[in-house]
Amino acid sequence: MVLKVTPRTPGADASGLYRRPRIVLQPKNVEDIPAILGKPKTYPTPVRAVGADYSQTRCVGGDGGTTIDMGTLDKILEFGENTVRAQAGVRVGTLVRALTERGLELPLTPEIGQISLGALAVATLPQASHTVGVAQMSSCVTELKLITPQGKQMTVTERNRDLMRVLKSSFGLLGLVHEIVLRVRPLTPVKMEYQDLSLKEFAARFAAIIEAPGALRLHISPFNDRVTVERRTLDEAMGASRSGMWQIRNSVMRNVLPAFGSTVGSVLSAPGLRTAVVSGVQRALRATLDRAARGVVLYAHELMRDLPQEAWKSRYTYSLWAFPQADFPRLLGEYFAFCKAYFKEHRYRCNVVNGASRLHQDRGSLFSVSYSGPMFTLEPSSTGDKGWDDFLIDFNDFASGLGGTPTFNQTRALQPEHVAKAFGDRAKLFRALRQRTDPMNRLHNSYFSHLLG
Ligand SMILES: Cc1cc2nc3c(=O)[nH]c(=O)nc-3n(C[C@H](O)[C@H](O)[C@H](O)COP(=O)(O)OP(=O)(O)OC[C@H]3O[C@@H](n4cnc5c(N)ncnc54)[C@H](O)[C@@H]3O)c2cc1C
Repeated sequence: MVLKVTPRTPGADASGLYRRPRIVLQPKNVEDIPAILGKPKTYPTPVRAVGADYSQTRCVGGDGGTTIDMGTLDKILEFGENTVRAQAGVRVGTLVRALTERGLELPLTPEIGQISLGALAVATLPQASHTVGVAQMSSCVTELKLITPQGKQMTVTERNRDLMRVLKSSFGLLGLVHEIVLRVRPLTPVKMEYQDLSLKEFAARFAAIIEAPGALRLHISPFNDRVTVERRTLDEAMGASRSGMWQIRNSVMRNVLPAFGSTVGSVLSAPGLRTAVVSGVQRALRATLDRAARGVVLYAHELMRDLPQEAWKSRYTYSLWAFPQADFPRLLGEYFAFCKAYFKEHRYRCNVVNGASRLHQDRGSLFSVSYSGPMFTLEPSSTGDKGWDDFLIDFNDFASGLGGTPTFNQTRALQPEHVAKAFGDRAKLFRALRQRTDPMNRLHNSYFSHLLG
């Protein structure tokens, strides 16, 4: 039996276009899904899956159709030595905590816990990576079970590499995923070290920075001309006791993290601080770096945070493009100049420290942003204040012009020409496959129709 719930916001927007679904359904069992797909008169097209609804774009896109909220399929089914099997509605934070209790973790741990496993398998979620081949969350997936647009059950494993690659970029357009198997490994301590550099210093040391082992996350302040390099090295040999770890963890939470990811939530939740975010965060960043200079050790899951229950309440928003690693210092120089020129002309600048992650090459999914080689993301971030939307329109042209690659779920205000330029034949291949597998467009929405045809 499916449960019908009221859409979270009303139907049509000012333009008269239906942005929201007419019906939202919560399946109790997997068997409910083929029944929904088979009744277009009762359950209007498009049928779209929604996980946590945290994407930065309209990729879920209800369009006056039927949205299936996968959150009710929320069971972790089986823990193995090297894998875990779970339903699509399980949140990654829930899974990561359950794995931790068993001394296990995912090969990549995202920084927010809300992401649903269904979205993790089919959307683009790049993460600061340690090795070639594992730079996107979907690369942790070894098996998928889905219901096709025709209502058929399908199981796909790593043995069918080509099909996996397409499904891992399918955004609910080729089927609704209900069960996932993910690779796991023993919990491994991570050593975190920081270097605070000017852009010039960053460029001069770039070759050494990318040569040394470890995952790289950058914290970028265009107006202060600073790039803080955060290096996360897996420390398999480290024998720190659990209590020792907790001491270190507490000091990280108190002294270091407030300056990075978690700042965003804490700084923004204080009333009246919104306008002080830029300078406040950047000052905090510098003040805490000395204390972190010797490096701290923690487990990856301790970096994970939970955003508010509803995405729109987080008051923190960002957009994401990726650029080839080889040219990244030059690209950053151009970005700093772009930000300064934009501010001069429009009096707008991003009011949250910008992030970036180094991605190793990963061909595990068709729309992987590091499909062609190693990349760095660039993530302008803001509280979504006045001027942000216009800034992104110009930033997108800047990014596309310099050979950037966007995502469908984390790059805002994307246009078809950006997609065609970045993905070329990969976009054409996906379009042809989608048309063949879903000729009635049962799962197709206006967002993807606009961007991919
Ligand atoms: C403030 C904020 C901060 C964030 N920070 C980070 C971060 O640091 N790192 C990070 O990796 N992400 C981050 N994200 C999340 C990122 O934006 C993801 O795009 C998003 O959360 C994906 O997970 P979801 O469950 O919300 O997917 P949804 O938005 O619900 O869905 C994404 C796409 O997947 C499809 N889909 C969902 N479930 C299924 C299914 N079962 N079968 C088929 N298709 C399905 C949907 O139709 C849609 O096209 C952040 C998001 C916000 C709002």
